[in-house]
Amino acid sequence: MGSLTKTVVFLCVASSVLCTPFINQLQPGQEWPTRSSVKQPYNQAEPEPTVGGVTKNEEVDVPAVVDEEKATDDDKPIETLDDVVERIDYTGAQVWKVSTMKNNAQRLINQLASEKLIASWGGNHTSIDILVKPKALENVTAALKTKDISYYVMIEDLQQRINEENPPLDENELELQDRRGHRMTWKQYHRLEDIHGFMDYLAKTYPSIVSVKTIGKSHEGRDLKMLRISDGKPSNKAVFIDGGIHAREWISPAVVTYFINQFAENFDVESDDIKNIDWYFLPVVNPDGYEYTHKTDRLWRKNRKFGYGPSSCTGTDLNRNFGYRWGGKGASSYPCSDIYRGSGPFSEPESKAINDFFKSSAVKFSAYLTYHSYGQYLLYPWGYDNALPPDHKDLESMGKLIAQAIRNTGGSNYQVGSSSGLLYPASGGSDDWAKSLNIKYTYTIELSDTGRYGFVLPASYIEPVARENIAGVRVLARQLSKI
Ligand SMILES: [Zn+2]
Repeated sequence: MGSLTKTVVFLCVASSVLCTPFINQLQPGQEWPTRSSVKQPYNQAEPEPTVGGVTKNEEVDVPAVVDEEKATDDDKPIETLDDVVERIDYTGAQVWKVSTMKNNAQRLINQLASEKLIASWGGNHTSIDILVKPKALENVTAALKTKDISYYVMIEDLQQRINEENPPLDENELELQDRRGHRMTWKQYHRLEDIHGFMDYLAKTYPSIVSVKTIGKSHEGRDLKMLRISDGKPSNKAVFIDGGIHAREWISPAVVTYFINQFAENFDVESDDIKNIDWYFLPVVNPDGYEYTHKTDRLWRKNRKFGYGPSSCTGTDLNRNFGYRWGGKGASSYPCSDIYRGSGPFSEPESKAINDFFKSSAVKFSAYLTYHSYGQYLLYPWGYDNALPPDHKDLESMGKLIAQAIRNTGGSNYQVGSSSGLLYPASGGSDDWAKSLNIKYTYTIELSDTGRYGFVLPASYIEPVARENIAGVRVLARQLSKI
């Protein structure tokens, strides 16, 4: 035992006050470790990019207006006009998978999108899924046929899929709900109130291992509620998991809350791999957007901060707003775009709260997992450009083990690769930022499916998708235990 270790042990024996703030070794129920009184676990300086030739904010016009967040003391969400807006109806809208193998395909797609005839749902190097508005069906068909671009219809009537996606719970489930002490199930997509109520219930029921903390407020004043599961062992590693950055990706908070439920309810019988980790969960990063998708527009993606630019468009894509290489490729400076990057790095209260949490936390995280949908991908950095971190082979092999565990459990095939390489460059993502903080195992997981239902995945898929993915998390925990 080295002299430093001896000193620490001595201090711990002599004084619990000096002992407790050491990294990850809080006793359950106590404050989470912050940086105020401990050694900083990682260097705050932004690391240099590992690949040359790309300068920060290259070829990007930075908007002059900086939107300062308005402070509010009011705990209640701000009532906005959106609360009285009717639901957006997608009757007759279709979703097509379009081949982008031909040279001119992507250009045509961009043109149709700029004419607002279609909206992109995402794609890879071979195809793109597009939402085609009902009035545009004829024009878009003609445009694709003229250029001999192949496509097929994935969703015939989007509104019908939306109507069928989230059926009410049956009598038995409702009865169980009443007895359980919280309303959360994994047979339905729940409102934010149910998710937060469930987190509070766990903290109250299992105070020795579960604690809940609000790390900030959304633009409309909703809590950004984080839950920690930990038995307080000093030797524990730490893993951070978030969901719901994009509002419409409902499967993501459903899967993350499933993990929370499994680990919290069964902690005593969980393997040491799980117990030897302090788990931090933020299941709904974008609560305003999430509620908006339930109340008004099922397919909203961004947050709900309003009034950007002369066009007064609402919302920033939170996954383009993180502060590592913000404003580069695959992010828009146009406020009405679905991939609007915001007025500056961490200009949004939701992404800023996460950054502030990491800045003030003394925890040294071993892994950061951020759950999205859809496409079935396990993506590692970098996203900002076609570049790889120095330890990309470790990320690839861990990713393959996770994908194998998913496949062995439920049969779904997840492709593993860097996000820029497998999909397309997208700067300002939370994964790049997490990696820039030296969190080694950083992944964006694009959950099911591959386009049959897309964002509108029926609630009956929650449990199968979550079961597959918790197997992946268990493998990650097993591998971390060996390091
Ligand atoms: Zn997403």
